[in-house]
Amino acid sequence: MDLGIAGKRAIVGAASKGLGKGCAMALAEEGVHLVINARTASELEATAEEIRSATGVEVTAVTGDITLPGIRQAILAACPEPDILVTNAGGPAPGNFRTDTRERWLAALEAQLLGHAEMITAVVDGMAERGFGRIVNITSQSTKMPVPNLGLSTSARLALQGFCNTICREVVDRNVVINNLLPGPFDTDRLQNGIVHAAKQAGIDVAAAREERMAATPAGRFGTAEEFGKVCAFLCSEHVGFMTANSVLMDGGLYPGTF
Ligand code: NAP
Repeated sequence: MDLGIAGKRAIVGAASKGLGKGCAMALAEEGVHLVINARTASELEATAEEIRSATGVEVTAVTGDITLPGIRQAILAACPEPDILVTNAGGPAPGNFRTDTRERWLAALEAQLLGHAEMITAVVDGMAERGFGRIVNITSQSTKMPVPNLGLSTSARLALQGFCNTICREVVDRNVVINNLLPGPFDTDRLQNGIVHAAKQAGIDVAAAREERMAATPAGRFGTAEEFGKVCAFLCSEHVGFMTANSVLMDGGLYPGTF
């Protein structure tokens, strides 16, 4: 299927590795020019070069913490009229709600809600004026199936979904749609770090903890960043103009509900 987005311009946040990189690569494979971001310059530059040489698209790397207003401004300066925006940032460290401080709450809200809402606000009307816009928020399966000790990010991500669900009806008539892509367990550094932490807590072997986690997923495996990216690219395609405010779950069957 031709996704119909060759030559478009996209911003992908937090994209030097993991799910953001999967989305950036999949968009580039469709001929989309990119502005990508992450905090570690060397890794970000290496990813930018990998995408350029694999696909031939233009890739601009903007290094810095996307939770900071100045970095978001630099990203928008590098791509003032994006056709596609994929919001993403690192998830917060787990923490028990009894000991979560106001500072941790504010950091989670900044990373998972306010920064993304600010980026969306900055680009959405321009997209509507130009008659094409695709926004995908990388949130989490936890917004449908809360995970113990991740209450901060789940709350902030649900608020982002609520914000987008509210504004999307003001722009869908001009071919701008906003959808959420909800990862379950995907084989990234973040997942592996979580497994190492859980194994340490339980006093078990990391390989055993990984096997256990995989076995708990009906698909019997973790997802890959590549397959996540392909679904993201579809949600950025010309074919989804009648599909907005959806939360698309990718979790290998882990969520047990019917809708
Ligand atoms: P990952 O493999 O650890 O990659 C995170 C990427 O984001 C890296 O490129 C990292 O580079 C960048 N990054 C992190 N914090 C950033 C910041 N403040 N500003 C700019 N860039 C930043 O993580 P992932 O698994 O792809 O996760 C992506 C998102 O999906 C996270 O919000 C995560 O909570 C969510 N999620 C993941 C899973 C999963 O199974 N993987 C499941 C549910 C939800 P630098 O460190 O160099 O900045």
